[in-house]
Amino acid sequence: MRIDIDPGACEGNAVCEAMAPMVFALDDRDQARVIGEAVTADGSVPDEHRLLVERAAEGCPRLAIRISG
Ligand code: SF4
Repeated sequence: MRIDIDPGACEGNAVCEAMAPMVFALDDRDQARVIGEAVTADGSVPDEHRLLVERAAEGCPRLAIRISG
């Protein structure tokens, strides 16, 4: 799956990081990022993380996380 985070919507409250810490982390500007270790060579995130990523997307109060693929 692919994960996109809307930087204009993210308010840095770390809900996603708390729900899926193996995939999301805040950077030094308090913006959510998909951590490098979670991304494969083709830029996708393995489906083993899908359930937690979907929960994080649903839990994001700004609806800033989009999942595709
Ligand atoms: S839960 Fe949403 S608003 Fe909060 S840090 Fe993650 S992407 Fe940003």
